Amino acid sequence: MRDLYEVLGCDRQASAADLKKAYYKLAKQYHPDHNPNDKDAEDKFKEASSAYQVLSDDDQRARYDRFGFDGLRGSPSAGGAGFSNVEDIFSAFGDLFGDFFGGRSSGGRRQARGADLRVDLGLAFAEAVWGTTKEVKVSRDITCGKCSGSGAAPGSKVESCGTCKGKGQVVHAQGFFMVQTTCPHCRGTGKVIREACDECRGKGTRAEQSTLQVSVPAGVDDGQTLRLAGKGETAPGGAAGHLYVVLHVQGDERFKRDNEDVLTEVGVSFVKAALGGEVEIFTLDENCTGSATIKLEPGTQPGDVLVRRGQGIPRVGESGRGDHVVQFKVDIPKKLSTRQEELLRELATELGEDVKEKRGLFGRKKG
Ligand SMILES: [Zn+2]
Ligand SMILES: [Zn+2]
Repeated sequence: MRDLYEVLGCDRQASAADLKKAYYKLAKQYHPDHNPNDKDAEDKFKEASSAYQVLSDDDQRARYDRFGFDGLRGSPSAGGAGFSNVEDIFSAFGDLFGDFFGGRSSGGRRQARGADLRVDLGLAFAEAVWGTTKEVKVSRDITCGKCSGSGAAPGSKVESCGTCKGKGQVVHAQGFFMVQTTCPHCRGTGKVIREACDECRGKGTRAEQSTLQVSVPAGVDDGQTLRLAGKGETAPGGAAGHLYVVLHVQGDERFKRDNEDVLTEVGVSFVKAALGGEVEIFTLDENCTGSATIKLEPGTQPGDVLVRRGQGIPRVGESGRGDHVVQFKVDIPKKLSTRQEELLRELATELGEDVKEKRGLFGRKKG
């Protein structure tokens, strides 16, 4: 057992402010948030916290100064507790840590928020583009209606836990040190229910299978998550968790999505690509069943695009839409009628193209 002053790196004349400063420095250095999964740092954090707990108490400090560790023995009510559990340190020095580190995000014995839940939701392509309202089924713990979350039978009392006197923590001797742990009787709540609510058996919550309406905004994409604040598990005395809805959006071969833009590939014959004309395409309008006629410029090349500005996917939570990009694919006929072939050969002659001669049976050259 190291000398408590040595642990904090202070001499025996150190003022309360000096001790606080010394502890602050060590606590910051070995704080579990800064040293995740570091057993050595955790031990140092506990050691410093235990030392500071004794030396920050005038009475205990005086007894330690006179009698050493013997002076601390067997006086649990007076404190002098060593810490076996990091969370107990945050409980004991909650205010101090609030000062030091601006609070701690997790742990400690503050009001626990209910657990977050996750559900999956499948959407058709058009539903994701234009938004929809869907139902999801979730199984979650909600506040018990009968006892309003207290866990006590209506009319019965919730009493302060006698074992820990409502503190939620108990102190017992372990070697020289007094060790502070979560009260086993009330499991740290500090309260004891005399007669448990029969609806929830004292838990204060009950599992409920519920159907929730999820409003899906226009423009969501596959893999995105919607957060329904406060729709997760409830926690007695704490805020409810959140419900995360993970979206799975079906693809649509007519519209390839790239964030807020969509790409439509449209096949045009090589003749039309050369001469120009009009092409009918699918659009996102009318719940993705709309159509539009677009102009094809003479001399359109394979891969050329026509951008329909503002005709793409709506931006989630904003006004405006992405673009609808139409890309032309030029189709070359695989088979030609005799007449078509004649015309093409004529064209080839006109263009001065050296084309393969017409083949007869078995691929031999004709006559
Ligand atoms: Zn209940
Ligand atoms: Zn208790």
